[in-house]
Amino acid sequence: MQSQSPYWNPKTETLERGELQALQLAKLRRQVRWAKARSPWFRRTLSDVDPDSLSSLDDLRRLPIVTREDWMSSQFELPPYGELPTIGGGGAIRIHTTSGTTGKGPLRALDSRKDWAWIAEMWAYGIWGCGVRPSDTAYIAFGYGSFIGFWGLHYAMEKIGVLNVPGGAQTTEARMRQIIDFGATVVASTPTYALRLAQEAERLGIDLPGSAVSRVILSGEPAGSIPQTKALIEQQWGARAYDTAGMTEIGTIMVFECAHQPGGTHIIEDHVIEEVVDPDTLEPVGYGESGERVVTSFGRGSIPLVRYRTGDLVCRVPASACTCGRGFDIYEGGILGRVDDMKIIRGTNVYPRAIEAIVREHDEVDEFQTVITREGVRDEITLRVELKQDVGDGRWDGLAETLHKRLALAHEGLNFRIERAGTGELPRFELKAKRTVDLRDAPIGAAS
Ligand SMILES: [Zn+2]
Repeated sequence: MQSQSPYWNPKTETLERGELQALQLAKLRRQVRWAKARSPWFRRTLSDVDPDSLSSLDDLRRLPIVTREDWMSSQFELPPYGELPTIGGGGAIRIHTTSGTTGKGPLRALDSRKDWAWIAEMWAYGIWGCGVRPSDTAYIAFGYGSFIGFWGLHYAMEKIGVLNVPGGAQTTEARMRQIIDFGATVVASTPTYALRLAQEAERLGIDLPGSAVSRVILSGEPAGSIPQTKALIEQQWGARAYDTAGMTEIGTIMVFECAHQPGGTHIIEDHVIEEVVDPDTLEPVGYGESGERVVTSFGRGSIPLVRYRTGDLVCRVPASACTCGRGFDIYEGGILGRVDDMKIIRGTNVYPRAIEAIVREHDEVDEFQTVITREGVRDEITLRVELKQDVGDGRWDGLAETLHKRLALAHEGLNFRIERAGTGELPRFELKAKRTVDLRDAPIGAAS
């Protein structure tokens, strides 16, 4: 029986790789057929592809890649939805948009009732897989707005039979009090907001580790798999933290961390094909090498993505890296960041993830920000640090020195300036924390 199984879908989650790939190939053919028949975009780009000619997963590479820019341009030229969707507003029940506001505006994604059933099903793999059961009470610390975020998790909780508390438009204090009042056993939020809630609990004198919360489900930022950040969340909540990752473009999560916490996230391979490619050459990279995710997702009939370039940096390892028995491969360390996240400062590569890993080992730090500037011809990198209110000033000098040394050690001796920020000075985030500010290319006068 399902209720006894650690797997949401015991049949597909334990398939042998050969069987899994045969299932993926059958779904790929069906998807190409569907996309060509229903989506004006794919009718054009896949015009010379015969679905029945796809004889192995290697044939996937014959199909063109779709980029976010393609989607945006199509939306811009044929507003409001562009040519990718297979349906217009009449066939859908809801619209969601990406949170980004760059370029030509946010992506608009339409979903039908059937799509929503699939979105919830995908989340169910993740929440069941980390141990959520019908007896749980879930608190979803999320704004329930246009950003798709935890909407799917909400429905998956209902599907499993979990009592849901939708923590929409409220203050952090009100949310924290509800978590305690309703006896929530599971909390869903971004990693940043999980830390923010824990700070609020401390301020309110709430003993969070002594509360009923036993699981924190993280999504929306890569930090859910940064070991130091995760350890901090687990310590402050007295609970286990599980990473998941998804995207508006596919409407749901495509990876989740199982109860065995292997230090990465399983790919839900019976519903997506994930390729990992070199971002420059687009050639596939092997297990254990970092590259960019390219996703083909099968369940969303309204937007049948085929080979969508995500910009996410990942490192794929075989399913056997985890002891849970799933046949689904793993992204070691979850989503490692964005391919274009890397900054080059005086010839040294700097990743936001590496900085966060160092900073989060110091729990005196409340919030931080990395600012990159150009002074004359020289690039400077400054870590701005805001201490927790109850941390005495006497601790600052020692902390600043330690951070300076450790950051240099991790970055070929690069000299980080360490600067103290005033209480409440740095931005706080509920969604998609953006702690790196690169002012080098800030437009002066007209934007380029
Ligand atoms: Zn596992």
